[in-house]
Amino acid sequence: MKDTQDNQTGKHRREMVALLQRRGIRSADVLEAMGQVPRHAFVPKHLIDLAYEDGALPVGEGQTISQPYMVALMTEAASPGRESRVLEVGTGSGYSTAILSAVSGTVYSIERHEVLAEAARERLEATGFAQNVFIRVGDGTLGWPDKAPFDAIIVAAAGPRIPDALKAQLAIGGRLVMPVGQAAGAQLLTRVIRKSAGEYETETLVQVSFVPLIGAQGFPR
Ligand code: SAM
Repeated sequence: MKDTQDNQTGKHRREMVALLQRRGIRSADVLEAMGQVPRHAFVPKHLIDLAYEDGALPVGEGQTISQPYMVALMTEAASPGRESRVLEVGTGSGYSTAILSAVSGTVYSIERHEVLAEAARERLEATGFAQNVFIRVGDGTLGWPDKAPFDAIIVAAAGPRIPDALKAQLAIGGRLVMPVGQAAGAQLLTRVIRKSAGEYETETLVQVSFVPLIGAQGFPR
């Protein structure tokens, strides 16, 4: 692995954080986490030189590690607090899980590909972000009912609609952030806030491009 001095000292991360600030990320907690987590430890070795570019990269199984700006934006929009319980759907490389670990109380993350979940677990342990994280393999469109309710839910893949199971697992006042749209086409990053037991407020944030959410309340396999 070509792990450069600049990766180790965090120079590239500081430059990335400066870019995120220029792009409008304001949350001090999110910016601090983005400056802490060594993204180069979450990308395939042959792509390590691209780890701090603001782009998605392949991580195997046809899946991607999300673009840093998108991870920061989604985390800021979900605004998990230090004591919060967070559900993440789509662990992928484990990078966004590490960011959530740094800004939340407890993180529950679900990945449908066992090989990705296992690799993510190893990376989180190696980088020191595993202590408040639980990962399981399964269909995240159904959520994690026995750990609900969640203060924040982040879905890192695009579905045709917000899964009812996830809405039901939001705490009152909780925020769910997820791309909604076509499997390979127009998608809108959407935020749902649970106002009361039966009342949800929905708003769209920006246009995005994510891999599809495959599952019982997502797209078919
Ligand atoms: N945020 C991750 C990161 O930083 O590496 C990247 C997530 S990647 C864009 C989306 C992930 O969602 C993929 O790993 C994919 O396998 C997963 N996925 C898709 N449908 C899923 C489902 N129903 N349940 C759990 N994971 C799912």
